[in-house]
Amino acid sequence: MALSRHHNRTRHPLSAKDLITESENYNFHPSLPLQRWLRAAKLLLIEANICEQDGDVQMAFLYLYRHADLVMVQIPKHPDFRNPAFQTDIVAAQRAVRKNIQKLELLKPRVQQAYERYLQAVERRNAETQRVHAERHDLADHLRRGSLAESEDGTYDDGMMPLKASEYSELAVDLAHREIRRRDATRRTTREAGISPGTVAARRRGIVVGPPDSDGMLDERAPPARPAKEAYQDFAPSVTARPDGRSLTATPSPPPAARTSTNKYTFQPTATTEAGHPLRTVLLPPDLRRSFLNLAHPNTARNLETCGILCGTLISNALFISHLIIPDQHSTSDTCDTTERGDNALFDYCDSHELLVCGWIHTHPSQSCFLSSRDLHTSSGYQIMLPEAIAIVCSPRHNPDWGIFRLTDPPGLQAVLHCREKATFHPHAEPNIYTDALRPGHVVEAAGLKFEVVDLRKT
Ligand SMILES: [Zn+2]
Ligand SMILES: [Zn+2]
Repeated sequence: MALSRHHNRTRHPLSAKDLITESENYNFHPSLPLQRWLRAAKLLLIEANICEQDGDVQMAFLYLYRHADLVMVQIPKHPDFRNPAFQTDIVAAQRAVRKNIQKLELLKPRVQQAYERYLQAVERRNAETQRVHAERHDLADHLRRGSLAESEDGTYDDGMMPLKASEYSELAVDLAHREIRRRDATRRTTREAGISPGTVAARRRGIVVGPPDSDGMLDERAPPARPAKEAYQDFAPSVTARPDGRSLTATPSPPPAARTSTNKYTFQPTATTEAGHPLRTVLLPPDLRRSFLNLAHPNTARNLETCGILCGTLISNALFISHLIIPDQHSTSDTCDTTERGDNALFDYCDSHELLVCGWIHTHPSQSCFLSSRDLHTSSGYQIMLPEAIAIVCSPRHNPDWGIFRLTDPPGLQAVLHCREKATFHPHAEPNIYTDALRPGHVVEAAGLKFEVVDLRKT
């Protein structure tokens, strides 16, 4: 059970109570290092934040609850919980939970509102169905006209157009670029104003006059006035001034269109895990591999592996890889490990740039294109944080010279998480321990998608 498993957004909203139950639906493995769980906790906060920015209050709520459960209920069961080396991080995590309790209270009515709107829509649908029956209209015909809250396949019509990113990758790329620019501008604005995001959100929450159903749109951290006005154009303009009448923004707002356009679409998951859980689409810049191989070349020439971390963000329910980060690392001909210092620097970078770790990429300078048992262990660590996380292998001397993989779930992920072997090459009993993630799979190559390369190596 992956830590950031989500319910399918295209299915109907859940009540706050059901979301809380769902938030406890993950497996805590006390055998994994405590450091990893503390990071998982931080990642949940990043993910909650991104979901909220993406207009998904339901998932933001779920992740914040899961964070609280992990920190307050599960982590205290870890054998290293009393180890003084972790006290600073544990105290910080507990402090974050206390801060989030207030946030959860504020999100709850919005979560509940989304759920109630859904119930009302279902009710309207039922009433309409009955009316149609009474009028002896052809029901099937009526259903096809699309006045449904919930269609026959159980998906929920929340007013957003569901799209397959694979079929609309140009649109997806365009949306991603605009949304990433908007978020960068928001982050800069927040920083320049010298106010922590939480403070801005708390202050604005009290004073925003929004439409009754603003939960899907309201972005706590968007610069006020312009984007809000655009998003709520069907309603009275929002009042988003500070109580003292001054604007929070010191810099020009990003294009207002960005807000409305990203919220019009939702990218449908088109693949599932072996257990049938939907996997959100991962959009990968096709040029990333070339950049990575160029960076790796000096190592490859010396028969040493190189690894990079794929980071990105969530936009309209799809994951866009926007950063290739090369962490400080130690390589051999068959292995490549991030150093402890590299791990910390990588994590700090993701934290400050609000990036999700979407997987990793590494070279096999002499070996063919496959996931070694050690690679499987590395990948399991990413997949437990994010079920959609992928592993890209580049084997320049072989054909095929690259591949994108994920562990099967089940049985691959579970088998590897329970495996205690440490050797670089060791057998795993399961025959189908990993699978392709591209053609077929949940990864789409999105031509033109921009990405940044960040080299954090010390040497
Ligand atoms: Zn490998
Ligand atoms: Zn193993």
